[in-house]
Amino acid sequence: MNIILMGPPGAGKGTQAELITAEYNIPHISTGDIFREAVSKGTELGKEAKKYMNEGKLVPDEVTIGIIEERLNYSDCLQGFLLDGFPRTTVQAEALDEVMAKLDRKIEVVINIFVDRDILIERMEGRVSCKNCKSIYNTKFNPPSSPGICDKCGGELVQRSDDRGETVRTRLDVYIEQTSPLLAYYEKKGLLHNINGDQDTSLVFEDIKKVLESLR
Ligand code: ADP
Ligand code: AMP
Repeated sequence: MNIILMGPPGAGKGTQAELITAEYNIPHISTGDIFREAVSKGTELGKEAKKYMNEGKLVPDEVTIGIIEERLNYSDCLQGFLLDGFPRTTVQAEALDEVMAKLDRKIEVVINIFVDRDILIERMEGRVSCKNCKSIYNTKFNPPSSPGICDKCGGELVQRSDDRGETVRTRLDVYIEQTSPLLAYYEKKGLLHNINGDQDTSLVFEDIKKVLESLR
């Protein structure tokens, strides 16, 4: 299945993406993860992306669209894929439609996870992830058994630099201004399914599975 996972920063997209991609055996394509990897490797892309990420702004469309176009051409996407954090602007959504048309494929479903702003701020401020396997935890809502250590692989848990201070609020404002209009874009196409993200992780996943199963 070709799936887009939408929702504001902190809604639980990465957390649910881990569960969905394991259940349906499809690749998890997160533009945020791709940019963070590039930043940590110090590549040209990383240097460019870092300027925007540190301020909580969006990386320019032309950079982001090029990356997704290349990634969707990999053979592991033939059985479906899960896009997390892309598209984030109308220009990106229209470019994605063109890429899909070229590949003679279609986006089949858009899952939108919604959560109130106050909770999103708490979730982002408490988020830590494993440097090694990228598993996501929360110091308040989903703490690891030993502070700072990944339960799954023993790797070091770190906080994202954009999950601190004003950047968190800027990212939420950017979401409202630039990304939330996409909900109407996908609603019009009849693809949008809204999921309450303010419940236990396993219950959010159950709700998502119900939608995906109804489309199979
Ligand atoms: P996103 O990818 O949408 O930015 P994440 O999946 O990284 O969001 O989740 C943000 C933070 O919220 C993480 O610290 C994660 O552990 C936590 N979290 C995710 N889902 C839930 C949930 N259902 N209840 C409580 N905390 C959650
Ligand atoms: P995320 O991990 O999805 O929260 O993304 C982290 C940061 O990466 C964002 O705040 C943006 O700076 C950048 N980013 C991720 N995806 C996109 C995208 N589709 N378009 C532009 N910038 C993006």
